[in-house]
Amino acid sequence: MAKRTAPVKKNETITLQFEDLTHEGNGVGKIDGYPIFVPYALPGEKAEVKVVKVNKNFGFGKLLEIKQASPERVEPPCDVFYKCGGCQIQHMSYNMQLEMKQNQVKNVMKKIAHLDDVPVHSVIGMEDPWRYRNKVAIPVGEKDGELITGFYRMRSHDIISDMDTCVVQDEVNDRMVEAVRRIADKLAIPAYDEKNDCGVLRHIMVRTGRETYETMIVLITRTKKIPHKEELVKELTETYPHIKSIIHNINNRKTNVIMGKETNVIWGEKYIYDTIGDVRFAISSNSFYQINPPQTKKLYEKALEYANVSSDDIVIDAYCGIGTISLFLAQKAKKVYGVEIVPEAVSDAKLNAKLNGMTNAEFFVGEAEKVMPWWKSQGLNPDVIVVDPPRKGCDEALLEAMIDMQPYRIVYVSCNPSTLARDLRILEDGGYRTKEVQPVDMFPQSMHVELVALMSRVDE
Ligand code: SAH
Repeated sequence: MAKRTAPVKKNETITLQFEDLTHEGNGVGKIDGYPIFVPYALPGEKAEVKVVKVNKNFGFGKLLEIKQASPERVEPPCDVFYKCGGCQIQHMSYNMQLEMKQNQVKNVMKKIAHLDDVPVHSVIGMEDPWRYRNKVAIPVGEKDGELITGFYRMRSHDIISDMDTCVVQDEVNDRMVEAVRRIADKLAIPAYDEKNDCGVLRHIMVRTGRETYETMIVLITRTKKIPHKEELVKELTETYPHIKSIIHNINNRKTNVIMGKETNVIWGEKYIYDTIGDVRFAISSNSFYQINPPQTKKLYEKALEYANVSSDDIVIDAYCGIGTISLFLAQKAKKVYGVEIVPEAVSDAKLNAKLNGMTNAEFFVGEAEKVMPWWKSQGLNPDVIVVDPPRKGCDEALLEAMIDMQPYRIVYVSCNPSTLARDLRILEDGGYRTKEVQPVDMFPQSMHVELVALMSRVDE
């Protein structure tokens, strides 16, 4: 094969016509078939680009000047959009975002799952795709002797100090971050210093129930002690009566992981509550809870529709978290079994079943990939299985256990189209057929896609 050399050089300025977008949201333009990825360029645009990196098979460029703008280009409302990296596509109209996400799902269904004809529906979008997040975890630092909070500048650990709001965040959480920072600063509580691994306050996490307006604040510190803890708690809770829980989490390791292992309630309850549809949920600090409440409701309704359970059905909900999907299913099914790896989430799930008077849901702590084969060996043969794994998708042992259990239907909820497609292929080869796929936009302004797929057994 002829040795290929890149048709461009580093630091060269070129004009590119953009045709496509990567999963990260970079525009793709080609020179003699050689792709160059350029952040913030949109398909259909023509722009002057500086080549910043040249690899063997692809390069990277920086947008210098747009010569021909896409009609779908919009002004990003966030002042720090180009620094932050938390959102990738605020410069794209919402309609284009939805279309692009649908295409992305169609592509992986073809390329990875080899399912050319499976219906991928239009993405269910939001009427108002801003301020949807119910949870924030923000780093704390110091600048000129004052506490600062802000997300990290892209690909760095420098805090963006001029960030006073986040346009995808619930306003109440923005205000709570600001309040904690202001009061902690007044009390001279030191920020964590990442370079020297000293200091105290590392992150402030805030979660507010959209329906209940109950707020939990989690203070994540390096130290076991928080100086002036009582004054901090007093001022926060007296000023903001919607705060129902203040939690202290200790993380004394040099790590990018936000939360440490030790968690203590320092004021109020261990939980906050929220409702989705008719179901009420207690949520503790370590538990996963979907971050976009109105879209979560649409996602769960779709999962429930696909599961199509009747009162005779036995259902498994694997990766069940605090039992959200399980309890929706339990309203219809004879019995639901949930499995989840985080013990706190399982105790939340048990409490949530009680809170809602549901006696037909049982929850187990464990790795789904170990518990499912064990259930199979115990003779548990569910009619329907729902899975909702993290980004890396399902473990093979779990997929095998599902195929062995021979449920009539499998409902696969996923936050990563590529691993979903990989797993659908395995299930297809194991005797299931993908009937349809429904993407739901849980993360507007970002490249993330959430989706739910329905599979049926071939003989059904
Ligand atoms: N269905 C829930 C949670 C989905 S998030 C909801 O919609 O709220 C995925 C969940 O899988 C998380 O709660 C995470 O703790 C859990 N998890 C991750 N790896 C796991 C494993 N190997 N076995 C079981 N649960 C796991």
